[in-house]
Amino acid sequence: MIAENIARVREQIAAAARRAGRDPQDILLMAVSKTVSPEAIREAYAAGVRLFGENRVQEFQAKSSALANLSSTGLKDHAARWHMIGHLQSNKAAKAVELFSAVDSVDSLRLAERLNAAAQSMRKKIPILIEINIGEEAAKNGLSPDDGELEELLQAATGLENLSIGGLMTVPPFTENPEQARPFFRRLREVRDSINARNLPGIAMRTLSMGMSHDFPVAIEEGSTCVRIGTAIFGGRKI
Ligand SMILES: *Cc1c(COP(=O)(O)O)cnc(C)c1O
Repeated sequence: MIAENIARVREQIAAAARRAGRDPQDILLMAVSKTVSPEAIREAYAAGVRLFGENRVQEFQAKSSALANLSSTGLKDHAARWHMIGHLQSNKAAKAVELFSAVDSVDSLRLAERLNAAAQSMRKKIPILIEINIGEEAAKNGLSPDDGELEELLQAATGLENLSIGGLMTVPPFTENPEQARPFFRRLREVRDSINARNLPGIAMRTLSMGMSHDFPVAIEEGSTCVRIGTAIFGGRKI
């Protein structure tokens, strides 16, 4: 089941890339494994998935020992990588740096500073993405594109020596029709491009993490470089 789902998602990624005149290799598939059992995660790994997203530190900590051998294989392209994609409280920053290979949901300057300090004390460099609340929804995490705090974070980048800011991530407003998400995806790409055009020290963003099960083909047409797929791979979540 899971292997078939992954094959279907990969076909849809390739088809969307072709429509947009893009190379399917430029789009990473992240399997979002929150609430999913280690057994199901192993099936996805066996089907070739190497990048996984989790949204809670405690949940992943509990699962991680059962999955350790997927991450610790010596062969580079064989090791599973785990990214934090959910809201992270600053007081869990150190734990997150210990457990995850990247944090894709940095939504405040304070969190960036805490992650940097934790990475420094563990002598690591941590890749991060800045989460943008592209629909400016009150209930969503992420910095608004016009937020002074986004500007502060960009200006602080050179001082955050143990972070490497790779790009932007977003969860757009939910719409039944994925076409309605298109302007939000396009806007995220424009935000990234306009930040890059400023040639700020320490800032060269490539990644656009956008697109989930119901809207990833549209996100790819608008430039996504990483799609985060949960339901379409593992089935519906109960919680
Ligand atoms: C749960 C989640 C996803 C995956 O959502 P699906 O609709 O199940 O594909 C992607 N991104 C984030 C940040 C999530 O929390």
